[in-house]
Amino acid sequence: MKWVDKASWQLKTLGQRALDTQLSLGVTGLSGAGKTAFLTSALQQLLQHDNQSMPFFSVMQQKRWLGARIDARQALHFPRFPYEQNLLYLKLTEPQWPPSTVGWSQLSLTLRYQSASTVRRLLSDYQQLSLQLLDYPGEWLLDLPMLQQSYSQWCEHCWALFRQPHRQAVAASFREQLHQVDLTQTDPLSVQQLCAQYRDLLQAFSQTAGAYLNQPGRLLVPAELEGTPVLQLLPLLPEQLAQGGALVTLMEQQYQNYLKLVVKPFYQQFFSGLDRQLVLVDILGALNAGEAALSELKQSILLILQSFNYGPNHWLRRVFKPRISKVLFAVSKADHVTPDQHQALSLLLQQLVAEQLSQSQYQLCQFEVMVLAAVRASDAGSIEHQGQQQPCLRATKRGQTLPVAFFPGEVPGYWPDHQLFSAHHFAFSELSPAPWDGQSALPHIRMDHALEFLLGDKLG
Ligand code: GDP
Repeated sequence: MKWVDKASWQLKTLGQRALDTQLSLGVTGLSGAGKTAFLTSALQQLLQHDNQSMPFFSVMQQKRWLGARIDARQALHFPRFPYEQNLLYLKLTEPQWPPSTVGWSQLSLTLRYQSASTVRRLLSDYQQLSLQLLDYPGEWLLDLPMLQQSYSQWCEHCWALFRQPHRQAVAASFREQLHQVDLTQTDPLSVQQLCAQYRDLLQAFSQTAGAYLNQPGRLLVPAELEGTPVLQLLPLLPEQLAQGGALVTLMEQQYQNYLKLVVKPFYQQFFSGLDRQLVLVDILGALNAGEAALSELKQSILLILQSFNYGPNHWLRRVFKPRISKVLFAVSKADHVTPDQHQALSLLLQQLVAEQLSQSQYQLCQFEVMVLAAVRASDAGSIEHQGQQQPCLRATKRGQTLPVAFFPGEVPGYWPDHQLFSAHHFAFSELSPAPWDGQSALPHIRMDHALEFLLGDKLG
């Protein structure tokens, strides 16, 4: 090797080392918000070679994209995101949605691209970004406010929620059960049984349209904590706390244990490792579920936002060292409505997020709100109705076998109030995925915008 070549090779190697970067992207959202669909689509868009499908992802649009691959060596002790299996569901002759997120999982990949900077291109033929994608339930973020509540405040909060119209009937038998409990008794079997009943109640809530705010999040989605005694926790009735007794004392201790052994470690060991965060929100599902559901969704989003609201003097900084610099709140499943409704959908979430952000003094994160569909299941078009062109969708509605053209309904321009809910019932249809050849880029709406916001600056 001539010295010039050698020097340039060494320079390139050095440059390569210096320019290699790492990024952890968290993907969250409440159950059913679209995390699995998003990650599957994002991975497929990055791993396939059709740059045409991502016109607003600058590294692809500027033809600097060299490709991506899943790292052969994944962390052996971490659950792996089942990307390959998920594709199999979408590839079926009658395509199905892949199974939703339960617990957390991750996948690491290496992205290779050419730098946008001429100087960097001289130093190195390509740059690499090691990207770690982490999928975890948004329910775990809903535990955050518990850190600032006492056990009795938490019980008050839970039972106020369980009195809401869409929850009352579901909670009735557990409430009755609690009334029968002897508060002086803490024998292990009856405590275990009572906690199992509370867990069943949380499961029932998670199947109830619009019941989003389920605490403790780990009881509902325990992951590796399944079966551990730290999850033996339930909210006793507020009137029982005044009576006192061994069971009250035990639950107060269990509450503190849960905060110390579950909530704090989650923030310290998991959340603090994230650089970027996507929060998916299914607004259309909440509109379908009605007024109480929508109000609970709003409450949940505001609670989730609190996890990113850490300024220099914020109490959260004492719990963990956050480093998230960008947060994207995205309304998922935009393909359920016609494109002319996307702006209204985005405005709903924007109003909510912006209102909250304007109230907090210190923001270290950059926030963005957008509307997307990870896997577009509909084609937008128009039909003539009473002499006028009207926007419509063509898709296979869930449970049906053939695609139909239909008008999916309008998204309100403001958060609907009681009056609107009494006069109107929202009914946005769920859709089956469209047939897919397994090769071409999965159809989507604004996945390129989302990846540009979340990764674009790291691929410059
Ligand atoms: P997770 O619980 O957050 O992992 O949610 P999933 O990703 O499993 O999504 C839940 C359901 O929402 C899926 O089974 C689909 O029915 C629907 N869904 C998710 N993403 C999309 C999308 O981009 N388009 C459409 N039409 N439906 C979606």
